Amino acid sequence: LPAAFQEAKPIIETIEAAGFEAYFVGGCVRDTILGKPLHDVDIATSAFPAEVKQLFKRTVDTGIEHGTVMILDHGNGYETTTFRTESGYQDFRRPDQVTFVRSLKEDLKRRDFTINALAMTAKGEVIDLFDGLADLKRGVLRAVGVAEERFHEDALRMMRAVRFASQLDFAIEPQTQQAITDNAALLTKIAVERTRVEWEKLLMGQHPDAGLKSLLTTGLYQYMPMMAAQKPMLQQLLALPDWHLSTIESVWTLLSWQMQLRDASAIRHLLKTWKTSNELISHVTAAVNALNALERSGRLTSEENFYTGLDALTTANQVATILGFGQDQAQLAQSYASLPIHDKHELAVNGGDLLKAKLVTPGPMMGSILATCLQAVITGKVENQQDALLDFARMVADSKNH
Ligand code: ATP
Ligand code: MG
Repeated sequence: LPAAFQEAKPIIETIEAAGFEAYFVGGCVRDTILGKPLHDVDIATSAFPAEVKQLFKRTVDTGIEHGTVMILDHGNGYETTTFRTESGYQDFRRPDQVTFVRSLKEDLKRRDFTINALAMTAKGEVIDLFDGLADLKRGVLRAVGVAEERFHEDALRMMRAVRFASQLDFAIEPQTQQAITDNAALLTKIAVERTRVEWEKLLMGQHPDAGLKSLLTTGLYQYMPMMAAQKPMLQQLLALPDWHLSTIESVWTLLSWQMQLRDASAIRHLLKTWKTSNELISHVTAAVNALNALERSGRLTSEENFYTGLDALTTANQVATILGFGQDQAQLAQSYASLPIHDKHELAVNGGDLLKAKLVTPGPMMGSILATCLQAVITGKVENQQDALLDFARMVADSKNH
């Protein structure tokens, strides 16, 4: 058993001692068998939520209506979910009705792919009711049961298939792939946010080419927001030499760039359509601006450095590296670090100082003078020192008054 399972073992043993069944399930079992690092340990149990809560001192109702209770133990949290079946799938989305059951088999049956339908006992014995182990060994993604039906129940599973293809470098089993091809249009029924999470995971996977190829061969990409006309763009992504993206910011920066979206409003339109946060929109806009500069001249001016910020600069350089015009990251960070100031609030004069020195009266002129001061400091024309800046501001004010 891996260390994370060792730590969780007493939880399972406590549930078993009370006369219920409990197993490790889902992604953590799959990743353990593949020898990959685990990010969370999920437990499935025959105990109902109220029964689970009685057995442990500290629990949180993280999703109690779906049967999920988080058990807190020694600084760890374990999502513990009652065996359940799902019904009443409406509009090809996940069900709004779940029924708790006492049978592990029923619970494993509702899971998406055979490699995700494995369970493991506290002793490390694998329970494999759908030949998931063989599929894991062969590197195959196969729907549990009849693929067509499973994608009708929840169309997001099609996106999950291509995302796992990318993360694991697995092939999608022919009938499962055919069912995706036939039902791809159902993806439009799925909330954009859920599709987005899978798309980001696909592009951050270790083998994005495997995921992209599956997207193209099944035609699923046509039903992703703003992607219907992007076949050439996706093919170009495939043609880029071995690449790896490690952040959501770099995912959207690369996509914006490849889609030729180079200005703020075009990027905003893409990201709003995909319902990302405003923070992400600002970051990607700054990173794409920096990419423009890097492509054009291989470097950023002081002002470009200042307005990009280190985080977006790092994103831009990660993407530039993939595109073949990346710079030495340490050198970029150094040139950013050597800016006289990194935030406009560090400027040694503010509006109040200008008023006190009787250089201006409140109004638009004040903002304009402050902006000129900021630019002078960033570009190294004037030192960020109050007296020097007041002298400079006086000069600017005079010239503006004449
Ligand atoms: P990850 O490494 O991304 O967490 P995961 O397999 O753990 O991968 P989760 O989304 O955390 O994926 O889901 C946990 C488990 O729940 C899955 O392994 C699968 O058994 C089941 N599951 C999740 N989403 C679905 C779905 N849409 N349809 C059917 N089963 C699902
Ligand atoms: Mg998981």
